[in-house]
Amino acid sequence: MLERGLPRTMTSAKTSCSVCGEELEAHLEAWCNACGLPYHLNQRTDLPGKDCGQVWINEEFLALEFACNTCLNPPKPELDGALDDVLDIQEASSAVGVSERDLQMAADDGRVRHRKTASGVYLFQRGDVIEFAQGRK
Ligand SMILES: [Zn+2]
Ligand SMILES: [Zn+2]
Repeated sequence: MLERGLPRTMTSAKTSCSVCGEELEAHLEAWCNACGLPYHLNQRTDLPGKDCGQVWINEEFLALEFACNTCLNPPKPELDGALDDVLDIQEASSAVGVSERDLQMAADDGRVRHRKTASGVYLFQRGDVIEFAQGRK
């Protein structure tokens, strides 16, 4: 149970990609400037490889900048506030006392700001739901 605070990658000879978790071969290894973790970046056009991030030239400093896909595309984009303020339809319904059905209809009608995930899950921000509930009264 001892947490030694060392990244797992430092204890093994092989480095693994922070994005996909697969092993990194030397010609694919790049380090993200944002989070400092290794990721796949194919730096050889003559060898097969995958990219789990990008590299580009910073024109101001003429330096290479590296960023992994985790930093480029955060898995849960923040809408405006903290993650705690993102509610699914059930939580939103009980938070403001509006039925799930009404919330869903309001969302579909564009009367309350929401995000619908690829799997059809509605996500709301607490502030928007509260505003919507107050607006109905
Ligand atoms: Zn990878
Ligand atoms: Zn990163």
